Amino acid sequence: MKKIVLDVKGMHCASCATLLTRALSKVEGVKEANVNVATNKATVDVDESKAGTDALIAAIRSKGYDAAESSGVIDPEQDAKARQEELKKSWRLFLFSLAFTLPLFLLTFLEIPYRDIIIWILATPVQGGAAWHMYVSAFTALRGWSANMDTLIVLGTSAAYLYSVYAVLAGVEGTYFEVAAILITIVLFGRWLEARAKGKTSEAIKRLIGLKPKTATVLRKGKEMKIPVDDVQVGDLVIVKPGEKVPVDGVVEEGHSSIDESMVTGESIPIEKKPGDAVIGATINKHGLLTIKATKVGANTTLAHIIRLIEEAQGSKAPIQRFADAVSAYFVPAVLVIAILTFIIWFVVSKDVQFSLIASVSVLVIACPCALGLATPTAIMVGTGKGAKNGILIKGGEALETAHKITHVILDKTGTITKGQPEVTDLVSVSKVGEKELLTLAASIEKGSEHPLADAIVKAAVEKKLALKKVTGFKAVPGHGVSATLGKKHYLLGNVKLMKGISLKAHEEKLHALEEQGKTVMMLAEGKSLVGLVAVADTMKETSPEAIQLFKKMGIDVYMITGDNARTAKAIAGKLGIKYFAEVLPEDKANYVKKLQKEGKVAMVGDGINDAPALAQADIGAAMGSGTDVAMESGDLVLMKDDLRDVAKAIKLSRQTMAKIRQNMFWALVYNVIGIPVAAGVFYGWTGWLLSPIIAGAAMALSSVSVVSNSLLLRMKKL
Ligand code: ADP
Ligand code: MG
Repeated sequence: MKKIVLDVKGMHCASCATLLTRALSKVEGVKEANVNVATNKATVDVDESKAGTDALIAAIRSKGYDAAESSGVIDPEQDAKARQEELKKSWRLFLFSLAFTLPLFLLTFLEIPYRDIIIWILATPVQGGAAWHMYVSAFTALRGWSANMDTLIVLGTSAAYLYSVYAVLAGVEGTYFEVAAILITIVLFGRWLEARAKGKTSEAIKRLIGLKPKTATVLRKGKEMKIPVDDVQVGDLVIVKPGEKVPVDGVVEEGHSSIDESMVTGESIPIEKKPGDAVIGATINKHGLLTIKATKVGANTTLAHIIRLIEEAQGSKAPIQRFADAVSAYFVPAVLVIAILTFIIWFVVSKDVQFSLIASVSVLVIACPCALGLATPTAIMVGTGKGAKNGILIKGGEALETAHKITHVILDKTGTITKGQPEVTDLVSVSKVGEKELLTLAASIEKGSEHPLADAIVKAAVEKKLALKKVTGFKAVPGHGVSATLGKKHYLLGNVKLMKGISLKAHEEKLHALEEQGKTVMMLAEGKSLVGLVAVADTMKETSPEAIQLFKKMGIDVYMITGDNARTAKAIAGKLGIKYFAEVLPEDKANYVKKLQKEGKVAMVGDGINDAPALAQADIGAAMGSGTDVAMESGDLVLMKDDLRDVAKAIKLSRQTMAKIRQNMFWALVYNVIGIPVAAGVFYGWTGWLLSPIIAGAAMALSSVSVVSNSLLLRMKKL
């Protein structure tokens, strides 16, 4: 199985996308095809042994479109250029059409000899030139026994044009050359507007590409050299001067400064950096001189990752789109039938060929599946782009759609609600061993662990300049603690679950008192007897209480989940006024998510490897950007700022986006439901008013432009 991405040319409509999706699905070996009208891309999962890129391109060409293999990795710069090119071309075509149509239109008001013949001459380059690509597209579609948007326009305008030719030759009063020419010009103008607006929806990507630094100053063989940023290698020492952009991801080797990371994380306050701290490429160094060691370059940088993620998200489909796809699949054939019926019925009723023709031409041109097709993808593009601007990466249309249904949020405690940098607060010896010795023992054992609690203990020992001892037989039991042997003595360090067979009775009071303060208490035991207690506390993130208020205001139930003991959990959850699940083993986190999923849609927010299964199980998994890569892979949302309020913002953004999509779909449907009968002359009997095909054409162009514009309005909404 291979994923092939193609750049498709010539799509205007949802019906184009539906048509191509079907055509691609029929190619042997294709498992799944997804064609997106907003990004002009086809993504195909195909069995390589059965069909290659050529077969897929041939399938697309057979329907009257063109395609080329996309450069594998999506190249947004190339994309933007191609889009500009196409935009220019469509503008020139419109001007060409206008140059003939304008004098033609003015002539219709004059009474001069051979007027109709001159009009005919002027109308011909429009019909045969400006509209040529529509004919090509309609005919190719016809060869594949299908119809597209161009079929409707070609049929409508050809009918008007050909009837007029007949009228001129036969000397019949009344021609419709201007109708056909003006229609084509309007359609071309509408397509140009639409292409322009579609370009705007992907502005978020353009903004991100613009962030990429061009050059870097590296230290090679002791000399400073300015080189293109793409030539920087992992391990290079890079100098970042005040006011300069950090060229690639790296770690500070030397120097102190504050860095403005707002362009990547959305966080406006500059972050202090000292040796050992990670820096992100494309962020701006404020005042200090920094030397950094490059850790990620080229396509592996955070910025490149974000751009790829958003591109993929914007090209993906939201489930709600299926409805639009289903409707537009039947749309064009249905309109053709309605147009024919319109002609027949009016001809039977009025015996007036001209009248019947005008009505059926109007039907053909007013019908527009474009609006319906653009409703979802444009809103998804604007929505994901807006998220990215706020440091919220949304991985796809499905996530963006699901987020608005969330009823329950589960928050991991350590690293999510709290800062995840616990500190030792109390050392309580309950044996002959002194406090210093207690810390030395604990730190010596924890040196082998990667747990944040272990870090806290080791850090405290290092700060007190204690010499750590060598241990053997180190073992970590997830959710319980660690054990190791020191000399001849075997030690256990962890929670109550680890202290099996060890009597804690005499020390319970002390233990509980610490836990009720929200501290995590670890017990150190040697053999069967308790040596002492080490209490650790983690500070709450300043933004967590506010985030929880936001959730509550949105009517969402909030839970905390932790491996910590119930008393500690209760103290913290109580302060926040939320429910909690305590003493949860890492492998059980996903089960708690499952349990709540029986009551509604669940979002899980976490940062660690042990959260990954729960993130994957949840309807929406939100991973903290500073967390582990595993967590970020499993998440549907990645929060660049580590700020819980952004989860609430993401849900709000999802609600706004879905509201836009529903609005768009509603108006697109209403437009067609009203437009088609009006054009068919259903109301003629009562009002004596028949829609001119020109108005019908303008309405059609306007409907798709208004859908795109409505999606763009999403950018203005406050998050
Ligand atoms: P969380 O992600 O909520 O912190 P964990 O499952 O990682 O939960 O840890 C649960 C509990 O297991 C901790 O509160 C602690 O009591 C114990 N524990 C886990 N790892 C260690 C360790 N390295 N040293 C001591 N105790 C540990
Ligand atoms: Mg955790």
